[in-house]
Amino acid sequence: MIYADNAATTELDIDAFEAMSPFLIQYYGNASQPYTFGVKAKNALKDARHIIAKCIGADSEEIYFTSCGTESDNWAIKAGDDRGKHIITSSIEHHAILNSCKMMEQQGTHVSYLPVNRDGEVVPETLESAIDRDTGLVSIMFANNEIGTLQNVEELSNIAHQHQALFHTDAVQAVGHLEIDVHKLNVDMLSASAHKFNGPKGVGFLYVKKGTKMSSYMNGGAQEFGMRSGTENIASIVAMAVALEKNCSDLEENKQHLYNMEARLIHRIDEAGIEYIRNGAKKHVPGNISLSFKGKEGEMILHRMDLKGICISTGSACDSKNTEISHVIKAIGIPEEYAIGTVRISLGKGNTMEEVDEIADALISILK
Ligand code: PLP
Repeated sequence: MIYADNAATTELDIDAFEAMSPFLIQYYGNASQPYTFGVKAKNALKDARHIIAKCIGADSEEIYFTSCGTESDNWAIKAGDDRGKHIITSSIEHHAILNSCKMMEQQGTHVSYLPVNRDGEVVPETLESAIDRDTGLVSIMFANNEIGTLQNVEELSNIAHQHQALFHTDAVQAVGHLEIDVHKLNVDMLSASAHKFNGPKGVGFLYVKKGTKMSSYMNGGAQEFGMRSGTENIASIVAMAVALEKNCSDLEENKQHLYNMEARLIHRIDEAGIEYIRNGAKKHVPGNISLSFKGKEGEMILHRMDLKGICISTGSACDSKNTEISHVIKAIGIPEEYAIGTVRISLGKGNTMEEVDEIADALISILK
C-alpha cells in the first residue's frame, strides 16, 4: 500500500506511540488527584503543555487541550459573548468552521463568507470592505485542506485588530508542517489537531492569547484552567507533544523532501502530456498536490488508484445520480469539465521518491 492522503490523517510517529503507552497502562492516575500517582500524570500534562507552547511561540497557559481540531474550531467560533453581531470567515474553510458559523447564524449572528481568488487566497481588501463596527471575530484558515493554499494570516489579523475584532486561524493543516509563531502572526486564537502531524487521533489544542475574552466550552470540573472540563487524555496529549516537537525540529528537512517529491510528480505528469489544472497557490502546504483533469471523474480515479493499492482523495463526491463538486473547488472557479476530475495527493514525510514514481505510473496509466 502507498499512503498519499496525509491531509486526511498521518501515520502515528513511533516515538509518540511509545511515549503514550506508559500513561495508558502504568501511570493511569487522574491528574486532578493530589497523591504521587496522580501527580505523575499532572506533571506529564504540564510538560506536554510547555513543549507544545514552545513549538508555536506561546506560553503554557495559552494552550487548551481539546479532543480534536473540530472541537478547537467550534470553541473559537461559538464560545464567547464577545464575538459581536458579525463574524467574518472565508468560503473555503473546513466544515468545522463553516457549520459552526451556520449555527451562529441560526442564533442571530450575521456571518460574512469572503470569496477567494483563483489561487484560493483571501484578498486583504475584501476583508477591509466586509469588516465593520459590529464585527467581533474574523476566522480565516492558515492552510487549506483541499488545495493547500496558505493565507497571509499576518496581514489579515492586522486588519481585524485595526477594527478591534478578534482573529482566529484554523491551522490544523499547518501546525507541525510549517513554522508557526503566534506572536509574529498576531493571532488571538489558533486551532490544531495531533493526527495531522503524526500524533494520535482524538486530541488537539486551541491556543488562546492571554487576556482574550473567552467563555468556557465544556462545563464541569476545573480541568484546562476551568475552561474545558473533562478528565484529561494524558496519553494522547503526551504523544501529541512528542510528535509536534519531532516534526518541528525536522521542519526544514521535511519541507525540502516534500517539495522535491511534488516537483517529481508534476514533472512525470507533464512528461506524459496529460492535460490538467494544478489547484492552489505557489505558497502551499508542502506535499499537497491538488489536480483537476479535464473530462475525468475524481471518484473514478480514486477507486482505480485504490485497486492499485494507492490511497488518494478527491475534490468531488459522487452519489448515484450527481457529482458534487467540493465548496473549495467551486470557490476558486475551476471550470466544471475539470472540477469533476479533481484529486488530492497529499504526500507525507514518510513517502519516498520511489513511491512517487509508482503514484505517477498508476495515475498516468489510469488517465491514459
Ligand atoms: N480544520 C481543517 C483545516 C482540517 O483539515 C481538519 C481535518 O481534516 C479539521 C479542521 C478537523 O480536524 P479533526 O479531524 O481533528 O477534527
